[in-house]
Amino acid sequence: MKALLFYGPNSYELKEIPKPKPGKGELLLKVKAAAICGSDVRMIRNGYRGVTRETPRIYGHEIAGIVEEVGERAWDAGYRPGDAVAVAPNMGCGVCDMCVSGNTHLCSGYKAFGINMDGGFAEYVVIPEIAVRQGNLVRITIGDGMTFSKAAVVEPLSCVYNGFEKLNIRPNDTVLIIGSGPIGIMHAMLAKMAGASKVMVNDLNEERLKLVSDFDPFFLTYHGDDLKGYVMEQTGSRGVDVCITACPAPSAQAASLDLLAVNGRVNFFGGLPAGKDRVELSTNLIHYKQLVVTGSARASLRQYRTCMRLVESGVLKLDGILSAEYPLTDFEKTVTAAVNGEKLKHIFVF
Ligand SMILES: [Zn+2]
Ligand SMILES: [Zn+2]
Repeated sequence: MKALLFYGPNSYELKEIPKPKPGKGELLLKVKAAAICGSDVRMIRNGYRGVTRETPRIYGHEIAGIVEEVGERAWDAGYRPGDAVAVAPNMGCGVCDMCVSGNTHLCSGYKAFGINMDGGFAEYVVIPEIAVRQGNLVRITIGDGMTFSKAAVVEPLSCVYNGFEKLNIRPNDTVLIIGSGPIGIMHAMLAKMAGASKVMVNDLNEERLKLVSDFDPFFLTYHGDDLKGYVMEQTGSRGVDVCITACPAPSAQAASLDLLAVNGRVNFFGGLPAGKDRVELSTNLIHYKQLVVTGSARASLRQYRTCMRLVESGVLKLDGILSAEYPLTDFEKTVTAAVNGEKLKHIFVF
């Protein structure tokens, strides 16, 4: 099979490698769509621990495809060759308190496709027994607005939804998202779905903001250097009820508290680069304005399935986020477009 092997920082190649065989309890998935994520871009640029020329890895954790083969003893899980499925990438040990509480994505022994095991930038991927049994696969019906590419992009949506659930957005709330791109747009979509009366998106890059207002003219955009002035003008000097930092910038986290109204909530959605995560925050703002500061990472299987339903039912329309589809052989072009942050989602299709 064709697979994109990654060796280290900016080092990768398309290779022909043996098609894997599913073992006991495992499934073999024929990948139909695998989208490139911001974290893939980071791993492509910086490399990833344990990934070398001798021990290459196939990245890609936003995956949808068709069950090709069902391994011995996997039949009773109900999957059959030909089933169309999307894959939630994170799996836990299944037995610790965190896993039993439904948070397999926060298990200390967590693993994920395309991160610490092979993923979807290949024609086939083996789904291990733990993922089959934990419910990482979600059946999808292709057609009627659902495509493999859309199903693949439900993964980042589910991470956004995890952050969204922490913010308790209510009708008429004002919402500010710092950082555009696909993640910023997904946050904006969910805020609008929850009834926000104003959704503002801030980014330094004017071109990227143009994609936000093209996606939905309801979303207001701002790229100037007086974000506080803009927010106060838009909110009658109250500040926003909700702020999401969807960027890896310490300064955005520090600034966010100042932009919030009384009883405001903030979600630090974007992680910060290692060594830059000590941020000075005014705790008196938290105290006197009764702010709620939250964080979120990855998504639970429940959140993943919820998002799949929201997309399937047409409540959330991802069409405008899928910028371009490429065959795996066009990997140079695809990776370059993603690394340069051109347009929104770049997806390998098979
Ligand atoms: Zn992702
Ligand atoms: Zn666990």
